[in-house]
Amino acid sequence: MTGVKTTCPYCGVGCGVIAKPDGTIKGDPDHPANYGRLCSKGSALGETIDLDGRLLAPQILGRSAGWNDALDLVATKFSAAIRDHGPDSVAFYVSGQLLTEDYYVANKLMKGYIGSANIDTNSRLCMASSVAGHKRAFGTDTVPGTYEDLEQADLIVLVGSNLAWCHPVLFQRISAAKDARPEMRIVNIDPRKTATSDLADLHLQINADGDAALFNGLLRHLADTDALDQPYIDAHVNGFDAAIAAAAGDPTLSGLTADEIAQFYALWAGTKKVVTVYSQGVNQSTSGTDKVNAIINCHLATGRIGKPGMGPFSVTGQPNAMGGREVGGLANMLANHLDIENPDHRDAVQTAWSSPTICTKPGLKAVDLFQACADGKIKALWIISTNPAVSLPDADGVSAAIKNVPFTVVTDIMARTDTGDLADVLLPATGWGEKNGTVTNSERRISRQRAFLPAPAHARPDWKIICDVAQRMGFDGFGFETPADVFAEYVATTALSRDFGKDLDLTALDGADYESLEAVQWPVGGKTRFFADGGFYHPDGKARMIAVTPPAQSNGKFILNTGRNRDQWHTMTRTGKSARLGAHLAEPYVEIHPDDAAEMGVDTAELVTVYGPKGKAIFRALITTNVGRGSLFAPLHWTRQQSASGVVNSAIGPRTDPISGQPATKSTQVDAGKC
Ligand code: SF4
Repeated sequence: MTGVKTTCPYCGVGCGVIAKPDGTIKGDPDHPANYGRLCSKGSALGETIDLDGRLLAPQILGRSAGWNDALDLVATKFSAAIRDHGPDSVAFYVSGQLLTEDYYVANKLMKGYIGSANIDTNSRLCMASSVAGHKRAFGTDTVPGTYEDLEQADLIVLVGSNLAWCHPVLFQRISAAKDARPEMRIVNIDPRKTATSDLADLHLQINADGDAALFNGLLRHLADTDALDQPYIDAHVNGFDAAIAAAAGDPTLSGLTADEIAQFYALWAGTKKVVTVYSQGVNQSTSGTDKVNAIINCHLATGRIGKPGMGPFSVTGQPNAMGGREVGGLANMLANHLDIENPDHRDAVQTAWSSPTICTKPGLKAVDLFQACADGKIKALWIISTNPAVSLPDADGVSAAIKNVPFTVVTDIMARTDTGDLADVLLPATGWGEKNGTVTNSERRISRQRAFLPAPAHARPDWKIICDVAQRMGFDGFGFETPADVFAEYVATTALSRDFGKDLDLTALDGADYESLEAVQWPVGGKTRFFADGGFYHPDGKARMIAVTPPAQSNGKFILNTGRNRDQWHTMTRTGKSARLGAHLAEPYVEIHPDDAAEMGVDTAELVTVYGPKGKAIFRALITTNVGRGSLFAPLHWTRQQSASGVVNSAIGPRTDPISGQPATKSTQVDAGKC
């Protein structure tokens, strides 16, 4: 067998993979995301496809059950909750791991048939602030650039992004570009020194949430040094005066010295081809949306957007966070980048779906959704392909909230997860290598995931499970036979985006052969970049610069930052199976500055308790100058099943960005001490 072309299931780079049933994995040399490259996680995929620990049949209250009984029970319980308590008494919490087809039918069921928008996703933890920032600035959730811009730029600014560990193939592409053009400059803005900082010409170790003050100051500097693109502003941008007025504050509030700031500003102002790459360090903040707009403001004010080697660029954490956004998989949006608040959009989507109803208001965002569970407002909950009892902030409170829901369904590929253990019904899903569908990566490129393994035992694809429940609830509109059928309907509905003057038009794929679909960027058959000549999606066609007020600096004893390790993915459902990946960093740890460790009386590898606003977690001390004084860093991967006391989200409070609802998991005020 020559191998099946598919797509890596981990990060938002979306690398092409060629896989064989014997576990042979190699990078797809023809895929435009990676041109054959893979990182440690992607190259170890073949070590993760065994059936150890898999959920192979439905379970009801811990006992194996047949599909008919399980699906009947789920449909009956959801229908009863809706009948007795209304549509908003039920909720779905889904995942950026889902394929677009899965996301599409889940969103259609909740918003068009149940009539609630209570469907949110773990992508809320990933990109919600970027989505909100894009919509404020551009009028729609558009990523303006492409990966090639990262190779064509003369200056790359990496903000709140450990690209070397979290998006390794993009980092490899930048490294190769810098090798070829040593004059390329790289600035890394991060409170922590990481593997990414090693490539940087300048590492700016800012305070947590110091980004808005820094980029506000950059905007002011650009104005003061005559570095604006006034014709672009005049023709294509509104809000400049308010944004510049709000940018009058002191940039040293970022925690950087005046010399560091001057060096960065001179480099940015003096380089035409600048790409500012940002990720979770920007998004996961109580001021995440403002930070995104502070960055975009600088690009709009200089016209450095949508041109080769220029633009703001958000890199998504998950493989299909973007695809989920496209089909409306967030509680505050409709499919095709249309708006719940707009009655014309709602009517159009309802007509396209021929659905009996349509949600009329935004639903509960992730943190609020689980608070509603704790408050007894949610009577039936379906969690699909994610582990919120570990991965959401206030993880212990979320576990208690799930227990408080009268009826909980969990779909997963694994038999035992912290969340699955709380379910009334467990439904076995097919996993990567066993299912077919599409994902969209960080540069708007849609790629096929293709099966190269049979579905194990009784496992079924998510789109099929959701459709089976929908039909048992008495709903038409879910008679899809294949994921290709779902994709075809989704493609047809994107005509609405075009009709309403939005950006997401896939209709050129109408009738395309699903099996042989090549990786393709949207807008399909159109431009590869947006906004070089304006054409924004606000009613007047202009972008918006946003007045940003930097947040007050945190002043707790310690600021706890969280993030990923190089060789693990999320709660290790899949990567935890590879001994090779597990050897990199084997147990929960917390990085502590040597001076702080000395004050605590803690030596390397001794146990440290971190006390957060709602709970605590215990880690081994890793003493390093990679973090500054007063800063702690702990990775997010370990579950209670792997380490009873090392769940970092037990020590994180449920603070969110007020606009995007994205949890602020990188700047929690905590105390810490030797165990
Ligand atoms: Fe997979 Fe991301 Fe690594 Fe590419 S960079 S192989 S998509 S984890």
